[in-house]
Amino acid sequence: MKFTDLNPKREIGAHSLLVELGEFRLLVDGGMSPKDLGLAALPDYTRIPPNSIDLILVTHCHLDHIGSLPCIHRDQPAARVLMTPASAEILPVMLHNSHTVMLRQRDELEVAEYPLFSRSEVDAIADDLFPMDYGKTREFIKGNDRLRITFFPAGHVMGAASVLIEHRGKKHFFTGDILFRRQHTLEGAQIPAMRVDTLVMETTRGTAEHAPGFTYEGELGELFGAVGATLRRGGSCLLPVFALGRMQEMVTLVMEARRQRILPKNFPIYCSGLGLAVVDVFDRIFRSRRRYGLDFHAPDPITIAAMRQDLSLPLAPKGEPTFRRQILTALGVRPLPFSRLSPGRDFREPSLFITSSGMLVENTPAYQVASCLLPHARNLVAFTGFCDDDTPGGDLLARDRGDSFAFDALDFQTTIGADVRRFDASGHADREDLVEMARQLGPTDIILSHGDMDARAWFLQALPPVLPGARILNPEPQETYAV
Ligand SMILES: [Zn+2]
Ligand SMILES: [Zn+2]
Repeated sequence: MKFTDLNPKREIGAHSLLVELGEFRLLVDGGMSPKDLGLAALPDYTRIPPNSIDLILVTHCHLDHIGSLPCIHRDQPAARVLMTPASAEILPVMLHNSHTVMLRQRDELEVAEYPLFSRSEVDAIADDLFPMDYGKTREFIKGNDRLRITFFPAGHVMGAASVLIEHRGKKHFFTGDILFRRQHTLEGAQIPAMRVDTLVMETTRGTAEHAPGFTYEGELGELFGAVGATLRRGGSCLLPVFALGRMQEMVTLVMEARRQRILPKNFPIYCSGLGLAVVDVFDRIFRSRRRYGLDFHAPDPITIAAMRQDLSLPLAPKGEPTFRRQILTALGVRPLPFSRLSPGRDFREPSLFITSSGMLVENTPAYQVASCLLPHARNLVAFTGFCDDDTPGGDLLARDRGDSFAFDALDFQTTIGADVRRFDASGHADREDLVEMARQLGPTDIILSHGDMDARAWFLQALPPVLPGARILNPEPQETYAV
C-alpha cells in the first residue's frame, strides 16, 4: 500500500488520506480544518490529477472529515463516494450549513475565495452516494485488480465507520474517529477480532491523561453538578459542543440530570441551528434503526475495558441507545436568540446554552454566547471535548480568571470573570484504549494520523512495548510511504 497524508499539518486539521493499492487510488475522507480560513483550510489536493480517484471513503460527517468533499468531487466526478446510510442522511445537512457559514465569513471576515463550493455541488454528491451497511463486504473490480471494503461501527458519532480494506491478501484497517465507550445516543465501536497488516489510527487524545480514579460517569456528575450550582446561584452556562453528535448527547444528558434533580426543574435551554437541524435527521434515523444499522452486532468483536463499564451508574444510559426529537420539546429547547446577543451583556434569566462550535471558533454561536457570559462571575463556560490550542477555546482554557481575553472577531475585549472549566467527556477513545486496540489487531505497520504532534509522540513511545517489531510511522504531511 502507498500512503500519503494530505493534511498539510501534523494536527487534527483537514483529514484526508490518499491510499494507493495496485490499480486502485482511494481517498479516505475529504475534510476541512476548523481553525483555518479559505484555501488554507483544505487538504493538499493539488497533486491529485483530475479523474484519477476511484473511490472516496467517508468515515463520518464531522467537517474535519467531509468539509472539502465538494471541492475534490468536482475534479473526481467519476469517483464513487462510499459511506454508511446514516452518514448519507447527515452529509447534505452539514455541507449546506458549511456553505451558509462560508457566505457569512466571506462578508464578515473578508475571505474572498468563499464559498469554496456551491449548493448544487453539495447536491451533486448527495445524489451520487454509494451507501454501505455495517458489516456487509463489497468487492470492487478495476482491470485485473480487485479489493474488498467493509465498514464497522466506530462509535464516536452517528453513522461513523472504521474501514477494512482487503487487497491481494493484505488487510488494511482505518479507525477514522473512534470511541469504544457507549453513549446515550450511540453504541460504542465494534471491531472484529482479527489480525491486520496495516493499522491507520487516529491519535486525538494522545495527551489526555486521566487522574487516578477517573470514571466517565463521575466526570459527568461533576459537570452537571457545576452546571446545576451555576443555575441555582442565578448564573448562566455555556457548553460549547460539536453540532453533530455531542449536542444531541448533551441534551439527552441534561434530560437525565434533570430527572435525577442534579439540575433545577425549570430553566431555558438554547441550542444553535445546525444542532437542531441534525436533531431532525437523528429522529428519522432512530425511527428506522435497523435500516441504518443501529442494530448491527459485529461477530466476535474485540473487547476493550471501556466497553465493559458499569452502565448502571448515574447519568449512564439505560437500555439501548436512542434519541428522540421529543426530548427537545420536553426540555423546552429554544433556538438561540441572536438578536439578544450583545458582547458583555449578561442574561437576566439563568440559562443553559448548548451550542457549536466546540472549540469556540470565531463568529460561531458559542463564540457569541461566550462574549456575553465571560465577563460575569456568576457564569460558567464548560468545555467537554477536544479543543485545539490555536482556537479561541484553546486560548481561553490557557488563561486564568482575571486575565483579559479578546474576542477579536467581535472587536470586544474583557476580563475573564466567569468560571471556565474543562471536563473530560470526549467523543474520542482514550489513548490507552487505542493502544489496546492496536495490540489486539497486531499490525506489522501502524500509521499515526489525525492528532497533534505531542499526541502522536505519546503513541510513538507507548506502542512499541506492546507491539515489538511493528513499524510505527508518524508520516510527514504530503510524503508518500510504502507499507
Ligand atoms: Zn469526528
Ligand atoms: Zn476528526
